[in-house]
Amino acid sequence: MVKRVRLKIAGRVQGVGFRPTVVRLAQDLGLTGTVCNDTSGVSLELQGTVQSLATFSQRLQGVDKPPLAQFVSFLEEKCPIVKGESVFRIIGSRVDGDVRSEVAVDTALCADCLREMRDPADFRYRYPFINCTNCGPRYSIIKTVPYDRPGTTMADFALCPQCESQYGDIGDRRYHAQPVACTTCGPHIWLTDTQGKELERENDACLQAAAALLRAGKILAIKGLGGFHLAVDALNDKAVERLRLRKQRDHKPFALMTNRFEKMEPFVHLSDAARQLLESPQSPIVLLPRRLNDRLPQAVAPGMDTLGMMLCYAPLHVLLFAEGLELLVMTSGNIADEPLICDNQRALERLGPVADAFLLHDRDIYRQVDDSIVHWVNRQPMLLRRARGYMPTPIRLSHSTKRHILAAGADLKNTFCLAKGDQLICSEHIGDLADAEVYQHYIRSIQHLRALFEVEPTLVVHDAHPAYFSTQYAQSLDSIETLAVQHHWAHIAAVLAEHQHGGPVIGLVADGTGYGSDGAIWGGECLICSLTEFERFGHMKNFILPGGDQASKEAIRPLMGLLHQAFGNDFTLDRCIEWLALLGPDQEKLSLIDQQLNKNLNCVPTSSMGRMFDALAVLLGVGSHNFFDAQLPMGLEVLAGTGSGKAYPVVMLATETGLVWDWTAMIQDMIVQVRQGAAPVDLAFRFHHTLTEVFCQWACLARERFSLSTVALGGGVFCNRRLIGQVMPALEAHGFEVLIGRQLPANDGCISVGQAAIGSRTLS
Ligand code: ZN
Ligand code: ZN
Ligand code: FE
Repeated sequence: MVKRVRLKIAGRVQGVGFRPTVVRLAQDLGLTGTVCNDTSGVSLELQGTVQSLATFSQRLQGVDKPPLAQFVSFLEEKCPIVKGESVFRIIGSRVDGDVRSEVAVDTALCADCLREMRDPADFRYRYPFINCTNCGPRYSIIKTVPYDRPGTTMADFALCPQCESQYGDIGDRRYHAQPVACTTCGPHIWLTDTQGKELERENDACLQAAAALLRAGKILAIKGLGGFHLAVDALNDKAVERLRLRKQRDHKPFALMTNRFEKMEPFVHLSDAARQLLESPQSPIVLLPRRLNDRLPQAVAPGMDTLGMMLCYAPLHVLLFAEGLELLVMTSGNIADEPLICDNQRALERLGPVADAFLLHDRDIYRQVDDSIVHWVNRQPMLLRRARGYMPTPIRLSHSTKRHILAAGADLKNTFCLAKGDQLICSEHIGDLADAEVYQHYIRSIQHLRALFEVEPTLVVHDAHPAYFSTQYAQSLDSIETLAVQHHWAHIAAVLAEHQHGGPVIGLVADGTGYGSDGAIWGGECLICSLTEFERFGHMKNFILPGGDQASKEAIRPLMGLLHQAFGNDFTLDRCIEWLALLGPDQEKLSLIDQQLNKNLNCVPTSSMGRMFDALAVLLGVGSHNFFDAQLPMGLEVLAGTGSGKAYPVVMLATETGLVWDWTAMIQDMIVQVRQGAAPVDLAFRFHHTLTEVFCQWACLARERFSLSTVALGGGVFCNRRLIGQVMPALEAHGFEVLIGRQLPANDGCISVGQAAIGSRTLS
């Protein structure tokens, strides 16, 4: 019996070779009909025997599913038979209605393309922009959906007859691959000096010259898939130091790239899971445990016990390494904390003083996308920065809202998020909004993504911090309803969103800075929350933080605050000035801070766990300044690695603001021990254990009171692998179900998703 059905498939089905697969499959099974992209995905009409139609559905969702496709829904309905139809064909895209189709992610070079690129007989031999339906640029080149070549930055490259025939041939693996190109018709590379003067233009000559420059210790700006990198030979001390100096990046570790696992092995320990992730289509930077005494220059990743490694993911990188390169520093092409640069002209202007030469190309990058960063928590990967390869895959909620929402995010490590239906589309990493360039980039990015996903927000969710740039931006969008969400509630809500969990749960927060409902700076909290409400069940005892924003850089400030709080009137600067001055800061600064505390000038009360890490890092001799976010806490984590000892006794006080962890005795003990010459490694170790104990006590007491047994962990301090690696199993041993974010970072990069989830739940 013959019948005709209509299939509506939503999800990531565009730009992943979906239609060609459908055509091949339909022809195989003798089905007739049509397929087209539409704004919610792909729609098909299929006509044939009941048996072949069933086989079609089965195979498309099983063995024949294109590797990059992801289905969210698969709806089937009957429709009237079309008489006289004899073929199955692709018809034009439909662009009416609401844009809901997923935009595909930028994907690393696939094995088939790699083989062709190495094959002298192939017409794309050594072509740096080879790609197919399974690999290549997507999100970074898309201007509009549905995803078709005219809506990408490839629009200006007319296909040559050879590419055209592959593009149009249903049997070819480049059938309707939108970025398809070759040496004859596609983008090309060229090499310039810092003034933009061409040094080489021919493909092989460019690659050879670029590699020679790198081998000679020069800094090369390389335009890649989602933006520029600054590259330098990672084994050349002087070159790495020069890059640090010129990039104005004094301490932050550099990421490394190579083309083979064997070249990584002298520097890091590689597990099978790490290999898989490094080779995955997402191809992120993976933080790997560093080998002791590696022969890397000190300047690559000072003080780190991990190294960020990635494999070549763009064909251009592969070709470059084939010129005999070993290991390159590949750091984002920007100055200090400015946005990643993706435009040739802008690169020459801004990176001219940094790089010695530029390897450019003419495939425009419409959206800059940083490399994603993954680390390991309890042997599972967790994203630290969600960008290339993951962006813009939406997070899906278990509920849906008709109104569109914009969530403005937080000011540090900003991302913003658009909510539409059941989708939360989180932007790539934007950066720190205090930088004027980053702020401009933020505004532009919101406009871009709103246009791309056709989002017209009628609700803007923002952080409760009145002075955040993101808050001010949200409030400046007049005629739109706004909703302020407490920072740590958003942290936990992001974890709930990822797990499609509505709450209520026990939310344990270990964070640096978040504006609290009482105007204090919160950061060590136990919340009871769902996506609709939260209450503060417990928190770390407050201390006074002198000096506002500087307090997160100069760690002596939180330390002085802790000392004042712990010793009260017994604390006088005279008695400990000599000892404190040994930890870094000069005496003048110390007395200034002391006066500030005594007179309560520019001081805020805080329960910030991040600042406690900072303070203890100074106390234990790790350093005195955060040159980049969380530098000192990371140092303290590394320090604890070789220590031993027990947790300090945990004191919990029932107060009117909740269950307060009083750390006074711990700090007093630590000071005494430090002055008696106890090993800092042991104190750092014991501190981590104490926090684990604190979190367990909060959770157990909250369980008794609220009969809840699910815990969610959030906040930037949980990027600390030692801490989360202890807290998770400890809670599980107490019988809790523990939720953590793995698709979203624990730091403020997840705030916008939490805000959007709360906004969306509030509306629905
Ligand atoms: Zn490919
Ligand atoms: Zn061509
Ligand atoms: Fe935070």
